[in-house]
Amino acid sequence: MKGEGEIPVAKVECLSCGYSEYQMSSLGLGELLKGRCPRCGGDLAVTGKELPREWGEVLSLVGREFSVVDFALGEREGEIEVEAGPSSSFPRLLRELRARGKVAALRGRGGSLHLRVGSLPPPRRERPHLPLALFVATLLSIFGFSYLLLFREVWGALLFSLSLMAVLGSHELGHALAARRNGVEASPPYFIPAPTYLGTLGAVVRVKSPIPTRDALVEVGASGPLLGFAVALLITSLGLVLGGSGEPLAFTTPSLLLLRSALGGGLNHPFVFSGSVMMVITFLNLLPAGQLDGGHVARALLSAEQHRTLTRGMGFGLLLSGFLLPTYPFWIWGFLILFFFGGHHAGVLDELSPLSPSHRRLALLTFLLLPLTFPLPGVAG
Ligand SMILES: [Zn+2]
Ligand SMILES: [Zn+2]
Repeated sequence: MKGEGEIPVAKVECLSCGYSEYQMSSLGLGELLKGRCPRCGGDLAVTGKELPREWGEVLSLVGREFSVVDFALGEREGEIEVEAGPSSSFPRLLRELRARGKVAALRGRGGSLHLRVGSLPPPRRERPHLPLALFVATLLSIFGFSYLLLFREVWGALLFSLSLMAVLGSHELGHALAARRNGVEASPPYFIPAPTYLGTLGAVVRVKSPIPTRDALVEVGASGPLLGFAVALLITSLGLVLGGSGEPLAFTTPSLLLLRSALGGGLNHPFVFSGSVMMVITFLNLLPAGQLDGGHVARALLSAEQHRTLTRGMGFGLLLSGFLLPTYPFWIWGFLILFFFGGHHAGVLDELSPLSPSHRRLALLTFLLLPLTFPLPGVAG
């Protein structure tokens, strides 16, 4: 692999508009290039033979993983054509670049590999009190609304609000751990209080830096639903064993029915309710569409085009389901997918490497949760 020192460099400037970039070229100072200025079409001349230190560092990092074939580097962004060898690792290069405030995307074009290198946006400062304030507000809101509208007694509302926070929190924790494992910057979880009979609309973790690989995208998307579902199973089982008095559930899920046939017990403990709520939230989040968790996993399996088609299909399908299954409010979700969660998915920095077999299995396993968490009409407690 070529080191930085062996690469011939020319600073190229437009004689008309002052545009400049760095190219791989052995032309001497003052010589004119054959190409024209990309901005104004004017003449380009070599005005320097040195790279700025920043680009020099980037090129030598790239040179450790790939062979540099050609490059054109501007003020902030640049494109480097490379050849991969048997030991080339794009994730390793990303880690090195990130340590220097840079990011790269690997793309294929006309049979050659291109790295687009740019600067990472400066880390946005989080307001550290906001997640905590929302956490407390959501806890109070779940307690208050579930007390008033569901339980009408302190103990039931308290058990429900604490356990619902635990399952929601574990779902978000799953996302956050996977993001950290893959070097993806993510916000702390923001819980959303809401005046609904659950007292919340759930919680979100915002992903703030691009996701490097398809494997990482599967991990970040799937780990929330998987961990949230596991904790929901535990809490539901606990509720079944404890039993309790109260309103029976208005809905159920196949996994709840399976658990009850294994464990017996009553369906009216607050833990059964919060666990089942989480299962339905898992179902809605795992639909393979747009920016939903299932959308991320699907995007890792599909091309951008296929993902877009699938998202539209899911959205319209759910919207139409309103006519076929009038008792299910899925059409609302279809509407939200089409107009809110269905936007362009940024994909991953390395679109070229396929999913590893283990991550393909993880992705398919995750979608197996869909039939297990499908909401069904309630049964008598
Ligand atoms: Zn020009
Ligand atoms: Zn999620």
